[in-house]
Amino acid sequence: MKRILVTGGAGFIGSHLIERLLDQGHEVLCLDNFFTGSKQNIVHLLDNKYLEVIRHDVIEPILLEVDEIYNLACPASPVHYQYNPVKTVKTNVMGMINMLGLAKRTKAKIFQASTSEVYGDPEQHPQTEGYWGHVNPIGIRSCYDEGKRIAETLCMDYHRQNGVRVKIIRIFNTYGPRMAINDGRVVSNFIVQALQNQPITVYGEGQQTRSFCYVDDLVEGFIRMMDKTPDNYAGPVNLGNPGEFTIMELAQKVIELTGSRSKIERLPLPPDDPTQRRPDISLAKEKLNWEPTVMLNEGLIKTIAYFDDQLKRTK
Ligand code: NAD
Ligand code: UDP
Repeated sequence: MKRILVTGGAGFIGSHLIERLLDQGHEVLCLDNFFTGSKQNIVHLLDNKYLEVIRHDVIEPILLEVDEIYNLACPASPVHYQYNPVKTVKTNVMGMINMLGLAKRTKAKIFQASTSEVYGDPEQHPQTEGYWGHVNPIGIRSCYDEGKRIAETLCMDYHRQNGVRVKIIRIFNTYGPRMAINDGRVVSNFIVQALQNQPITVYGEGQQTRSFCYVDDLVEGFIRMMDKTPDNYAGPVNLGNPGEFTIMELAQKVIELTGSRSKIERLPLPPDDPTQRRPDISLAKEKLNWEPTVMLNEGLIKTIAYFDDQLKRTK
């Protein structure tokens, strides 16, 4: 049994990860400032005596004794990370320094939830880990993209300079139950709109592409990276589903699966919105023996059932 700290543990992905770690018999410390996460995401786990919840902001130092750290604290949706961009930078930089300092002091292994956004609006397609990216350093997405890039830099410097065992995963768009209703990301927006027969808001022509990974597949990849790779292996490793869809195709799929009467509404494309994104997952296959198992239709059906239930509860 290990004592494992999960920052951002009350968020969408964090809550699924905590569930898995508790199932495996570990003691889990869930640290969150509840900016985009919520108690509701973990309420079903609170009876478990091996779960401890800490309301704390990662930009402040904290003294804990742990064996492993999963650093997920950071708003992930463009709407939320752009709400207070300076805070997003602080979370990524100061939060990362605090967590790496904790890992150094306690000799804990540390996992960083990085992102496909480090590739920016990519000129290489699909994206491999060797690609250095095409990122605007002064745009409205930069607080997140550049924040996550410097977080990776910090991980590698603590690894080389101090021998900290780090594990970097670059997550491509992930979806599933427990995304927040007001999250603003495309899958949750389209499902919530469709279930309410409201217009489906497609930004731009809807020809930009994304690859959507179901959360259970992603969490499996996290655990394999942390548990199954040698101590000196830091990554980064891409995790995502290589199935690539245009945003218009996603809108049509969601309308079909919900049986909705919603019509498509075109809204302006936000600045710096990447035109295409698809992971090359050869490295994940080689190092983690991992590939996604949940296809988009199957994952969407589960996610639709979740939001349907949530909307009925709030009525
Ligand atoms: P989320 O917004 O649901 O979860 C983030 C959690 O971090 C929330 O619980 C939030 O309250 C918490 N948090 C934010 N700032 C904090 C701070 N300063 N101190 C403490 N807690 C803080 O998002 P998610 O989709 O679960 O994303 C989790 C992680 O995965 C993030 O680091 C995100 O950047 C990364 N990621 C997610 C995706 C995706 O598609 N979901 C893609 C790439 C990377
Ligand atoms: N998008 C959209 N309508 C929405 C929300 C998002 O058309 O209501 C588009 C957005 O412009 C982007 C894609 O869907 O091209 C994915 O957006 P999301 O915010 O989910 O994440 P991103 O991959 O851009 O970080």
